[in-house]
Amino acid sequence: MDKSKFHLITYNWLFLLFVFLFLYFWQNISVWYIIGIMIAYLLILAAGSIFFRWNFYLNALHRGSGRIKQVSLTFDDGPSSKTEAILNILKEEKVPAAFFLKGENITSLRKIVRRIYEENHLLGNHSFTHSVGFTFQNSRKVTNDLQNAAKAIERITGKKPLFFRPPYGVTNPEIAKAVNRLGYTVIGWSVRSFDTKYHNPRRLLSRLKQKTKAGDIVLLHDYPEVTLKILREYIQWLKKNDFQIVSLEKLINKKAYA
Ligand SMILES: [Zn+2]
Repeated sequence: MDKSKFHLITYNWLFLLFVFLFLYFWQNISVWYIIGIMIAYLLILAAGSIFFRWNFYLNALHRGSGRIKQVSLTFDDGPSSKTEAILNILKEEKVPAAFFLKGENITSLRKIVRRIYEENHLLGNHSFTHSVGFTFQNSRKVTNDLQNAAKAIERITGKKPLFFRPPYGVTNPEIAKAVNRLGYTVIGWSVRSFDTKYHNPRRLLSRLKQKTKAGDIVLLHDYPEVTLKILREYIQWLKKNDFQIVSLEKLINKKAYA
């Protein structure tokens, strides 16, 4: 397995710390140098957790090659009561998508999950609990959580998902350990719609039109009202501008199921 940026930074940091400790004990440099590099290290670790695109703890795929004018649509946090309306639009527009499901929602909305699968959209793991607590668990608990979500999907589709998108895009060494152990392909995004924050359809649509480029993985959600309002127009705009909307498997050339 390739060493992550986290490992490389840590090795270099330990070396630096060793040098500064040596200087501190033998050359009497100020203790603030030691405190300074401790703080710098902690800040880098925190930033590495938050900035998903750095691929600091694990290597996620955030976009396709972009050589062909293709994009993939992804919907997080479902299934929800609005998912079927999203599916109707995708069906009418004959467009595939990927749904990163929250395990907890699956049990009460099994029929919708089956429909997503039967209509040839991809199902990915987005954790079972999707709680803030998920991020602060040890790797054994993260593994359990991911397996619970995967089982919920497998019970309905008969297939074990291989795509995982971390809740909030937050990663850390424990999540990385669990994900590597389970053999997931970690999926990020290159266009964040902010459809959970923007309530104005015009504003959301113009953001999407401005940001979308060849190879993009577009992050949407299948519960906000505003997403439903703009989806058809966005898809039609993509088509009119010669974007092919392809499945995530095709865009990144990876298998979605074991
Ligand atoms: Zn989410």
